[in-house]
Amino acid sequence: MKELELYLHIPFCIRKCLYCDFLSFPASEATRESYLEALKEELRKKSEETVEYTVSSVFFGGGTPSLLTGEQMEGLMDLIRDRYQLAEEAEISMECNPGTATAEHLKAYRKAGVNRLSIGLQSAQNAELKALGRIHTWEDFQRTFRDAVDAGFDNINVDLMSALPGQTADTYRDTLEKVLALGSELKHISAYSLILEEGTPFMEMKEKGLLDLPDEDGDRELYEMTGGRLKEAGFERYEISNYARPGYECRHNVGYWVRREYLGFGLGAASLFQGKRFSNTDSLEEYCQDPGAAAGDPEVLTPEEAGSELVFLGLRLIRGVKASDYRAITGENLMDRYGDVIRKHVSEGLLSLSGEGDDTRIALTDRGLDLANYVMADFVD
Ligand code: SF4
Repeated sequence: MKELELYLHIPFCIRKCLYCDFLSFPASEATRESYLEALKEELRKKSEETVEYTVSSVFFGGGTPSLLTGEQMEGLMDLIRDRYQLAEEAEISMECNPGTATAEHLKAYRKAGVNRLSIGLQSAQNAELKALGRIHTWEDFQRTFRDAVDAGFDNINVDLMSALPGQTADTYRDTLEKVLALGSELKHISAYSLILEEGTPFMEMKEKGLLDLPDEDGDRELYEMTGGRLKEAGFERYEISNYARPGYECRHNVGYWVRREYLGFGLGAASLFQGKRFSNTDSLEEYCQDPGAAAGDPEVLTPEEAGSELVFLGLRLIRGVKASDYRAITGENLMDRYGDVIRKHVSEGLLSLSGEGDDTRIALTDRGLDLANYVMADFVD
């Protein structure tokens, strides 16, 4: 049996955050209901192509999946169990925004089979949350975390952001300390820097000089604080921006970085399946009329393209990329194809190179992690 991951996109949010360019928006109860019907239809349709696969992880992302009621989540999970071969030990994650899920909802999600919760905290400072346009406060988050633990969740991720407007080393340190004091149910932390995206209110404010962002040195200080403090607290960095207690890496996300096959369901959702990359339409109307309607033709990857993806995605992982995995996809030797690029970055101190033949492994060094985009660009076709 081959391994498969499922991603389900829930594009609804109570209101749009000021920095967000994800495919998400507010919607009425009726719109949400018809979207869920379409999502179920797509799940039924695509299940026919997956008879040879075991599903090892399911991820409900958004948007705000925690706007789903308990019955809605149960309906989706029942359908997945019915139509797909869901592994007994499958990781079932959902994203949750503080203040959106009641204690009752959280219990129902857990009962429906969700076993990993990813809570979008971003900051423990109410002023910073307000500046981001988030709807929650630190107190809302604490309540959600407590309710999640009471509902039986013991594998919880918290999302954090740095380089925020008005953020200082002191406020960020305070956020880290508050999060690390949460308890043993906290198994994972994702820590990203704020990126200003085109078309967002933040980009407009930045252009008008209205955003007070930390400068490059300030940003660097926060980045180093994250790595140092989380390591001290027993969280291992396993990807550029992700930290976990041993054994609690997010299996679903690791799947993306090792190019495991996945099917995406819902608006704009992307898939990598049977050697092709393809995406669903991002028009809600079109999606509800024709669930799973594609946005354009699938991209059929050559073995060289797939090999290039394996390297630049795999380099995000601290363990790096192994030549035997490269050979399994391309039939080629990693060093024959990328020897020059690898040697260049090794001499610059950005890549480490170990082992021989198919045991060769390349990985970003600490300095390489800081300059990851520069290194990875050399492996993109
Ligand atoms: S909650 Fe997340 S997806 Fe929704 S608007 Fe805010 S950042 Fe975007």
